[in-house]
Amino acid sequence: MHTHKVKAFGTEAPENDLELITIERREIQPKDVEIDIMYCGVCHSDLHTARNDWGGSVYPAVPGHEIVGRITGVGSEVTKFKVGDLAAVGCMVDSCRTCSSCAQDLEQFCENGFTGTYNGKDKYIDNQRTYGGYSESVVVDEHFVLHVPENLDLAAVAPLLCAGITTWSPLKHWNVNENSKVAVVGLGGLGHMAIKLAKGLGAHVSLFSRSAGKTDDAKKLGADQVIISTDEEEMKAALNKFDLIIDTVPYEHDINPYMNTLTVNGTLVLVGFIGEFENDSVSTKPMIYKRRSVAGSLIGGIKETQEMLDFCGEKNIVSDIEIIKMQDINEAYERMLKSDVKYRFVIDMKSLKD
Ligand code: NAP
Ligand code: ZN
Ligand code: ZN
Repeated sequence: MHTHKVKAFGTEAPENDLELITIERREIQPKDVEIDIMYCGVCHSDLHTARNDWGGSVYPAVPGHEIVGRITGVGSEVTKFKVGDLAAVGCMVDSCRTCSSCAQDLEQFCENGFTGTYNGKDKYIDNQRTYGGYSESVVVDEHFVLHVPENLDLAAVAPLLCAGITTWSPLKHWNVNENSKVAVVGLGGLGHMAIKLAKGLGAHVSLFSRSAGKTDDAKKLGADQVIISTDEEEMKAALNKFDLIIDTVPYEHDINPYMNTLTVNGTLVLVGFIGEFENDSVSTKPMIYKRRSVAGSLIGGIKETQEMLDFCGEKNIVSDIEIIKMQDINEAYERMLKSDVKYRFVIDMKSLKD
């Protein structure tokens, strides 16, 4: 496979900072498009991968899966895009395309494993992992490339590609509509998109937060109510209220108090913490006594991602962002760990050319 070199920001080890490195991108294949990356959002998963929080990170690691840019090249069999089009890439760049999940437009559940936009096994370049959007350009099969609504602010669209779809998919799966009462746990990148999208679908939306200082912001984002999760009285007042809770907290935490705020048949969907509950055991009582469920959800399929982007175009929904330079990424990670971001960092990739 012929390749060419591009500039990127990556890390060589979990304890290292990210720094300027050079990576290989494949030459455009018949179904590929090449995208000049303009903006890339900063997801908490980028930090988990850079620091090997989940195990399994391979180095060098180049994160970034909230990619927006412009098409600079198309392969001979490409039909969806032409040079000059806006384009976006989210968390996946490939899957088997034949298994029953892929056949149902659920590539995120590909039975043969989808290829992550970063830290996935590259199917084209031997012994290489995929490298994400903290880079000048990327080459992707057009099936995994999305159209960007022309009316939206491009930098603020980037976070829709992960934070947006990850919260949209459960909202749709659990049929959220004007009659739904939804609550969101944690006001970060995913949490703030969950509020905007649930509101966009007409639901009544509440936020559970540890941070009293976020109340005004949450209301500006569309929340009807904010419940401080450390306040026992406020938690008691919320018992049996919500049809659906989207829990975006990235680390192990006690979900039992939230379970009791679900209605009969209500569901708490975990999208944040990926791992085992080791310290906080989960009681079956709230489930058994009110037929409630605990579920999980992973990003969303490509078709659903396009539907989400089109919905955001119609309703003028984008992320609240703080634009940073590529060179500021290490400081941005530290701030993200302190929940000090409103509400998503987006890298202006022009800065990588400096
Ligand atoms: P983020 O911007 O850092 O937001 C997380 C929020 O959770 C924080 O703002 C904070 O909100 C709350 N929080 C943080 N640490 C906490 C703790 N120890 N205990 C309780 N609450 C805490 O992160 P993000 O980018 O939204 O990502 C959230 C998680 O989702 C990450 O673990 C990421 O890897 C994962 N993720 C999963 C998928 C998927 O497909 N399932 C997709 C993307 C990301 P408050 O201050 O309001 O409490
Ligand atoms: Zn992500
Ligand atoms: Zn598949």
